[in-house]
Amino acid sequence: ATPDAIADDLDGTTDTVIVRLTDEAGRTGIGETDAPPHVVKAFLEMPTAHLWSRNVNEVLIGADPIEATGLWQKLYDGTFWPGRRGLGIHAISAIDIALYDLAGKQHDVPAYKLMGGARRDRVRPYCTIFPGMAHGRSIEELMKEIGRKFEAAIDHGFRAVKMEVLFDDLVTDRALVKLIQRGRKMLGDDILMAVDFGYRWHNWHDALWVLDRIRDCDILFAEATLQHDDLDGHAELSRRSPIRIGGAEAAATRFEIREWLTRGKVGVVQPNIGRGGGLTEIRRIADLCELHGAEVVPHGWKTGITSACGRHFHAACAPSPVFEYVSPKVFDSLLRRELVSPEPAVKDGYMALPDRPGLGIDLNEDLVKRLRTDGKS
Ligand code: MG
Repeated sequence: ATPDAIADDLDGTTDTVIVRLTDEAGRTGIGETDAPPHVVKAFLEMPTAHLWSRNVNEVLIGADPIEATGLWQKLYDGTFWPGRRGLGIHAISAIDIALYDLAGKQHDVPAYKLMGGARRDRVRPYCTIFPGMAHGRSIEELMKEIGRKFEAAIDHGFRAVKMEVLFDDLVTDRALVKLIQRGRKMLGDDILMAVDFGYRWHNWHDALWVLDRIRDCDILFAEATLQHDDLDGHAELSRRSPIRIGGAEAAATRFEIREWLTRGKVGVVQPNIGRGGGLTEIRRIADLCELHGAEVVPHGWKTGITSACGRHFHAACAPSPVFEYVSPKVFDSLLRRELVSPEPAVKDGYMALPDRPGLGIDLNEDLVKRLRTDGKS
């Protein structure tokens, strides 16, 4: 955990929980999940109570990491009493990611090849532009910060961004329309632009009022419009909106995503790879989306481990225009900047396919030692 993190903001990069798997030869694989570290740790260390509530080490010790999909099922079945959704799946996601990292190192191939191989020849991140919560700043100050970050993102090679408009009651809906139009003007016509509304509305009528008025802004998708669990509201909004509706950023597994597609009718699902079931599950989710004419744009606001997962996901999964990327050059965060390396370059909007084994990143062990919160070293 970052020692001086501000708790009343919405920055998920201030702490993480890292799962590390080690094989007989001493090779290691790492994964992370975006969930409270102490609770994940407790879940991973719980003693076996019965066949549906097992300690995960019992499943993993002696297993072969290349059988990640088979192991996913054993982990899911073995923890489905306390797990199945939410925290249990978050923990399993971190393990699954670590299995791909380790198997990739054992077989000397990048993780995306273990996911079935490349479906494109370069990957396309979008840079999330988050000025932070207002904390007393005026809307003008927030817009200036957004403008600075737009420029930084474009300077660093991004050609796709997402404007976070978590302005709450600092602005009316009418004013919000103007701000989004201003955002589009700042970017020009050639940059892909999504908008995250941060769960602004409690009914689809109000959301539609704004979306109708920004229809000319060429928005890739509208994220977090309605309350997360209001699937019927999402369906009404999706049917009427001139802009594609995103959702499901807190959803886990293909089963929940199926609900978002069949009942919620969204055009874009946004599960986090480290929360929704890992690399195994995100591929299955992508396959499911293809059948529904929908796309996957994974949420990813964590450390460079999650960013690396995004790269491998995008390499291996076709139905996805972009994936979320926290750029350490645009958003200042100690863990995002220093926890893992190397950080691939973005050029003309794209990154090269990963070419190192596993996730292709190295953990900064000194930083881990310095920032560990579990008393070990
Ligand atoms: Mg979001």
